[in-house]
Amino acid sequence: MKVVKFGGSSVADAGQISKIVDIVTSDADRRIVVVSAPGKRSGGDTKVTDLLIALADTVIEGRDYEAPLMAVVNRYAEIQRDLDLPEAVVSQIEADLRSRIDACGENFLQFMDLMKASGEDNSAKIIAEAFTKRGYPAVYVNPGEAGMLLSDEFGNAEVLPESYERLAALKEESRIVIFPGFFGCTQAGEVATFPRGGSDITGAILAAAVKADVYENFTDVDSVYAMDPRIMPSAPAIEVMTFREMRELSYAGFGVFHDEAIIPAVRAEIPICIKNTNRPELPGTLIVPNREYGESEVTGISSADGFCSIYIDKYMMNREIGFGRRLLQILEEEDISYEHTPSGIDNMSVILKSSELGAEKETVVVDRITRELNPDNVTVEHGLSLLMVVGEGMYYAVGMAGRATGALSAAGVNIEMINQGASEISMMFAVKESDRKRAVQALGNAFFS
Ligand code: ASP
Repeated sequence: MKVVKFGGSSVADAGQISKIVDIVTSDADRRIVVVSAPGKRSGGDTKVTDLLIALADTVIEGRDYEAPLMAVVNRYAEIQRDLDLPEAVVSQIEADLRSRIDACGENFLQFMDLMKASGEDNSAKIIAEAFTKRGYPAVYVNPGEAGMLLSDEFGNAEVLPESYERLAALKEESRIVIFPGFFGCTQAGEVATFPRGGSDITGAILAAAVKADVYENFTDVDSVYAMDPRIMPSAPAIEVMTFREMRELSYAGFGVFHDEAIIPAVRAEIPICIKNTNRPELPGTLIVPNREYGESEVTGISSADGFCSIYIDKYMMNREIGFGRRLLQILEEEDISYEHTPSGIDNMSVILKSSELGAEKETVVVDRITRELNPDNVTVEHGLSLLMVVGEGMYYAVGMAGRATGALSAAGVNIEMINQGASEISMMFAVKESDRKRAVQALGNAFFS
């Protein structure tokens, strides 16, 4: 059994929805279909979810909401017309939206979720109609009724553990299940949504609940590429990678999906396949718990700007018991999350996201380090990029670091920091943001050409 998820661009109009019907019905294992709200049809377009947020804001502010309401209704009306579905479909959607608006009470966060959720809910209803019209038995399933129970953190809800057992019953449904992504309901019966992009989470939860053989995530790219094609257009497509490789790559900027979104599938060890709705015949990229790999094989190279480092120097630091703990405790007490702590005999660096260390916090932290740890020197360096070279086969391979540093030095890139410590499957480099593109190209040429 396969759980299949289609993102916003895959449900953006009637043409895309027809492709979904073809894709799902071409494989009898594709039994549970998770759908997003209609996304952008072209560059300048607006996603239905964003139209719904604008509508909800207008209602909350007590302004006339007819125009933003009709902007949403018209998106569905266009789909209904182009798919030649009964007009009643649209009047039901309009009535549904009006009754949600009428339900606006004091809790605006809850109201916002009720409105946002309508995007996927009505999308699922209209897509179920599209299957039926083409003669395929399909059923819309309401997440709350099916047992998708969420915490009541509106806009940022998490799935409750008991959901899995309840949702497992979907396996028994003989018709194709069309399940709206992005939302569920709280113990009190209120609609709540996951964070933005949360239809991926729904898909991963359902895949885990029904113990699917694979979770297929359809989007608008052919595959995941080994490097950002904007930096290296000839970057090879990744056919298969492990969950660990995906995690390391998405840490530094691989934007296929939010790695947190697929935690349920990863925990249940369900393979995930990324495929293109527009070219479903291509194999896509398969992400699996384990795979066979060749020695020295690099799977991907990713990079991200926006890091900084605090560098602390103190003679005989290695003999000083508790130095590292006290340093990290200062960060903890200042509510700062850190990323890496490469260290030497007499020095230690802490790499942080720049967003964690605003100017005020920087002064406080540097002051405290100076007073409490009595170092010889503390410096903060901003504007760093992290580069990750990732591959399961790297750990046992000799000379990988040499190849990478050789390539960087030949390209005239100064390496600010290297970390190949704890992770067996990646090498990390920090470089100046202004060197990032050149550095990534140099690494790409070293490992992929
Ligand atoms: N429609 C929601 C959003 O735009 C959820 C999703 O598409 O995954 O964030």
